[in-house]
Amino acid sequence: MSTIPSPESEAWVTTGDGAIARAVRHVVEPEGDEVLVNVLACGVCRTDLHIVDSELPRHRAEVVPGHQIVGRVTATGPGVQRTRTGELVGIAWLRETCGVCDYCTAGRENLCDQARFTGYDADGGFARHAIAREPFIYHLPSDADPVSTAPLLCAGIIGYRALRRAALPPGGHLGLYGFGSSAHITAALALASGASVSAMTRGEHNRHLAETMDLAFVGNEDASPLSPLDSAIIFAPAGDLVPGALRATAPGGTVVIAGIHLTDIPALNYGEHLFREKNLRSVTANTRNDGREFLRIAAALRIAPSITRYAFDDIPGALDDLRSGRASGSLVIDTTG
Ligand SMILES: [Zn+2]
Ligand SMILES: [Zn+2]
Repeated sequence: MSTIPSPESEAWVTTGDGAIARAVRHVVEPEGDEVLVNVLACGVCRTDLHIVDSELPRHRAEVVPGHQIVGRVTATGPGVQRTRTGELVGIAWLRETCGVCDYCTAGRENLCDQARFTGYDADGGFARHAIAREPFIYHLPSDADPVSTAPLLCAGIIGYRALRRAALPPGGHLGLYGFGSSAHITAALALASGASVSAMTRGEHNRHLAETMDLAFVGNEDASPLSPLDSAIIFAPAGDLVPGALRATAPGGTVVIAGIHLTDIPALNYGEHLFREKNLRSVTANTRNDGREFLRIAAALRIAPSITRYAFDDIPGALDDLRSGRASGSLVIDTTG
């Protein structure tokens, strides 16, 4: 145990009307298996925007968003066993699960009914300090760069799970609908495995980013790839992309919806969109095992997200840029600045 650095700490909290406001949070002593971290960087995810904009059911009147946190441990609870003060750790979306239900015991804890989430059910990383339970943190190499590591913790992990759910055959053709933080990391992962990748996305910034990568095709979100897709992942929260993605996917192929929120899917035509064994799947959060596997692979492949960096004072600006598509790649708050 170590002493708490300061009794008060700055944070940004949701206001319930599409904005966030500065607030002061009291830094509390970690209890049980909790660790307290000094936040160094926190990624900005579209889910944060869904929470700020009340597009997801509200879980708390006021919450500090942010679930891609890299921080240094400053204090540990009495039940913490393998984490020391000064260690660099990651805190991600999956905050805790019940550990005893059928899903938890079958390696499918992402489906646990009792799962709670960082920056949604409990305060997250748009703050100077954050708390998490030791079993749900990721230990990071001591020399990892906090800003470039932060987006791996949700954009990266969810992209990895989506790619696995997409069942892309070796050397197959993957279509990505939307090309933001998660998609560009997933593209790097798929390219490294020998896949060919096409990106269909709106917004100049996203297309420019896609054009810097070695992709087979880059076009508008309603463009058709040059050849049928074996698998597709829809990252944009737009249900009207689903019919086109299914049409562009070859018989037996799989379309995966990666986001937590999607506008309504228009009526599908069985013959045109689903018959000939096309699969439509969702992705729901991730297991800790997904996280550990992905972080290992990302380190081995030296996956380096394209970063747009923001100061702590400019978190509302980062959310505005994400909302309007003004920034490309991964948006990250550098909390040291
Ligand atoms: Zn459970
Ligand atoms: Zn996220």
